[in-house]
Amino acid sequence: MLPTARACAYTLPHVAETGGVGNQPPPLSGFDPLACDPALADAVHREGAGDALPTLASLAEVVGSAEARAHARLADTHPPVLRTHDRYGRRVDDVELHPSWHWLMDTSVGWGLHATPWVAPAGSGAHVARAAGFYLMNQLENGHCCPISMTYAAVPALRHDAELAERFEPGLRAQHYDPGPGTPDGKAGLLAGMSMTEVQGGSDLPAVATRAERAADGTYRVTGRKWFTSAPCSDLFLTLALAPDGPTCIVMPRVLPDGNRNGMHLLRLKDKLGNRANASAEVEYTGAVGWRLGEEGRGIATVLTMVTMTRLDCVLGSAGLIRIALSEAAHHVAYRSAFGARLADAPLMQAVVADLALESEAATALGLRLAGAVDREERELLRLALPAAKYLVCKRAPTVVAEALECLGGDGYVEDSGLPRLYREAPLNSIQAGSGNVTALDVLRAITREPGSAEAVLAEIDEAAGMDAWFDRGVQELRTELRGREERRARRLAEMLALCLQGSLLLRYAPDDVASAFVSSRFLPDGPWRTAGTLPAEAHTETLLERVTPVR
Ligand SMILES: Cc1cc2nc3c(=O)[nH]c(=O)nc-3n(C[C@H](O)[C@H](O)[C@H](O)COP(=O)(O)OP(=O)(O)OC[C@H]3O[C@@H](n4cnc5c(N)ncnc54)[C@H](O)[C@@H]3O)c2cc1C
Repeated sequence: MLPTARACAYTLPHVAETGGVGNQPPPLSGFDPLACDPALADAVHREGAGDALPTLASLAEVVGSAEARAHARLADTHPPVLRTHDRYGRRVDDVELHPSWHWLMDTSVGWGLHATPWVAPAGSGAHVARAAGFYLMNQLENGHCCPISMTYAAVPALRHDAELAERFEPGLRAQHYDPGPGTPDGKAGLLAGMSMTEVQGGSDLPAVATRAERAADGTYRVTGRKWFTSAPCSDLFLTLALAPDGPTCIVMPRVLPDGNRNGMHLLRLKDKLGNRANASAEVEYTGAVGWRLGEEGRGIATVLTMVTMTRLDCVLGSAGLIRIALSEAAHHVAYRSAFGARLADAPLMQAVVADLALESEAATALGLRLAGAVDREERELLRLALPAAKYLVCKRAPTVVAEALECLGGDGYVEDSGLPRLYREAPLNSIQAGSGNVTALDVLRAITREPGSAEAVLAEIDEAAGMDAWFDRGVQELRTELRGREERRARRLAEMLALCLQGSLLLRYAPDDVASAFVSSRFLPDGPWRTAGTLPAEAHTETLLERVTPVR
């Protein structure tokens, strides 16, 4: 017999009976992520996109809104579901995505954070404006930023073939989010993915085993398995496969021009640590039809054009993640008290958050400087500065997020706070698009094979020569390291390069309090950065904290 209502003795306690909620901050929503980030606004100006600031302010309003933050949480807590077959047993190879995922995609595509800047003339600031927007959007939700980034990065790679570029660029650039399968020529907006990593090796691209056979009509038939292919519902995939003349890049549509689905089967979705809103699939190609991009046998160089651009977004994405973690920490300590005083007034807490703020200032300045270099087509500088920055900024993100999480005490460790999502996300950018070691080895390769790249980076660093003794000493150490070029020291070299670039930018453009605290703590002889909150006594931690606290 079911219990009657009367038989059920338990009643919900009234909140007052358990005590009210005191000493807790208001939710960090309705805040302005641009107003509390002068480093971003300054960098946008400096890099030639000052005109975009009003538009960025409107985007920032969206990013900081309660509605957007709810969508970010929902997209993450309702991960994608794979549907391999329909009820009749037919293959559909589809992924069901939560409405909040579509809201996020629609927003980012609508704001043109994907491929739109590629149509603007060099030096117009379009890439800088887009970079700032992408950085803001990474403060909201990182999973959906993956297809946004891949679509951005696909355009320069597609330009290896004028015909393919002409055919697909307009769709990739369109500010129209058009999910669902359809022929790429007929859709209002396109998304692009990349499909390179195989089970036997991701970094080791020459070991590719997926095969591409030339067909009589000039297309290729691709057969094999890929271990990772994110955003598998994209419209086009740049895929690496072994053709008769060697590794070759093939552009594969999800739906063929005749409306049939391509031979691309989704085997399963990865159960990932973070980035959970985004689907990452294992894929099997069964004679999938595609078009060659670039020369046969030169596919690695072709796909690396795309990878290089995603590296910029790894830097911007990690800078965004660092910044939102900092905002969460600064916001919490502004409202929470312990031992009768606000945490934000406790000297040791100030030292911790100020240290995180320095990391954020440096990551933001460097990310936007690189976007400016893309805008102005500073190829030599990018060749070396990009992998070095990717190495350092992405490595810093987990440390910064972990410290920010701790600023919230036990609440930071609880899902409701949103910090665990940031913590799970934080290691990813250092793994994808070239893991730490691989990126550091790329730094070494750039220095060895393209000496102009080292000259360009040193010229940029030297712009701040003589401004600070700590910094000058660090640059001297970098020059020694550059001469050594030992493989086992490649991480140190990458780190020093990025650190010197950050130091140079902050010394020239940041307020004195920021620059001096950064160089005096990051260029110490006994290591670049100890635990957070160990800034030298002269650092003006209170001012630093005030500068970055979110405005509601
Ligand atoms: C969430 C997520 C999404 C992804 N999405 C995609 C996608 O959409 N498309 C795609 O193609 N791939 C994707 N990847 C795969 C990713 O790019 C690879 O995981 C990455 O490139 C590393 O390759 P791997 O996993 O095979 O590791 P390995 O190549 O096996 O490397 C393992 C470790 O060895 C190190 N290492 C490798 N070579 C050397 C060396 N010579 N010296 C010293 N150390 C070395 C690496 O740095 C790494 O730490 C995704 C991965 C993740 C986690």
